[in-house]
Amino acid sequence: MKDYLKEIVDLTSDAQINPGWAGHSRNVNTIKSISIHHDASVRPHDYDSIARYRQEANYHTQTLGPGLQYHYKIDNVGQIFKTRPHETWLYVVGSNENTSTIAICLDGYFHPPHNQIPTREQYEALGQLLIKLCEQSPEFSATYPDVRPHRDFSSTACPGDRLAPWVFAIQSKADVLNIPAEAVYDWPEYQPQPAPIIPKPVDAVTSPTYDDLYRVYLNGKQIAAYKNVQGAYTKVYDNPGAIVTFKGQTITVPPKPEPIEEPDIPQPIPSGAPVSSPEPVTDVPAPNPTPTPSEAAGEAAGEGSKEVVRTALIGGVSYLISLGLNYLTGLPENETTVILTLVLKGIDKYIHENPNIKLKGISPL
Ligand SMILES: [Zn+2]
Repeated sequence: MKDYLKEIVDLTSDAQINPGWAGHSRNVNTIKSISIHHDASVRPHDYDSIARYRQEANYHTQTLGPGLQYHYKIDNVGQIFKTRPHETWLYVVGSNENTSTIAICLDGYFHPPHNQIPTREQYEALGQLLIKLCEQSPEFSATYPDVRPHRDFSSTACPGDRLAPWVFAIQSKADVLNIPAEAVYDWPEYQPQPAPIIPKPVDAVTSPTYDDLYRVYLNGKQIAAYKNVQGAYTKVYDNPGAIVTFKGQTITVPPKPEPIEEPDIPQPIPSGAPVSSPEPVTDVPAPNPTPTPSEAAGEAAGEGSKEVVRTALIGGVSYLISLGLNYLTGLPENETTVILTLVLKGIDKYIHENPNIKLKGISPL
């Protein structure tokens, strides 16, 4: 429930509502009762409360006496206005008890023909104000049983059939807090809202979650997971048909990159070191500065036999390829010869460019 007492608006400085009134002063210790009223005017849902009270003050000034003849007003949203000081007695209950009562008036018309019901805000504010006056105002003696409806003082319908019974029943604090179920909030949006349920913050994530992994699946079964997508790609290349997912999304794996061939880098020969490489690096064999006679003869003999083998081999291969081409293509023999020549030149070129090819007995043409 709102604390309506915190928001009491003091209108006692308003000369129209609370003009000076000589002869109506009193000592607050003479206060013996608290009278409850309605203003018998229809209470709209939305209205200017202070304008309403000034208008009522004008009417009272013309018919009863100077200023508004209530000490407190309570509007539809439960706003409490202090309109007259307790030290001023008013023409309010129509009896000789005017001088000893505090008058509280609720906005509304609580009997026929309008039969308005006090708002729940009005009940809550009235209850809190009554507790303050009855329990926290030692300067006068009036307390709960002294809270009475206007009609208890004199012959009047005030404060209406919808409110008078509730006031008659007041004997204690519990009674003023016992708000009739029929009273509803006129402006529920002005009421304190329950505190929103704030979800407990989740601990900050300080390490990658499992969702951050690149997962490799093969035939629906996970076969690996990697933090780096390259690792996942490699796994896919090794497992044809495997797929990679990341955070549930399938990733298209790029084609496997071709391995980069390392170019042959000639190794420098350290000066003074013996030349031990058996592989010739040029067409010209490295001269042997001091061949022994037997070695030189062996070399020459070797070269000669190599030449024979080479010629025979080329001839045989040529013949076989020529037969094959004739058979496969049906081309005339002179055309297969042209093709054959080209093939042999290609082989020769290949051997030239790849001196490490070990085609036994054949050296470049
Ligand atoms: Zn009244």
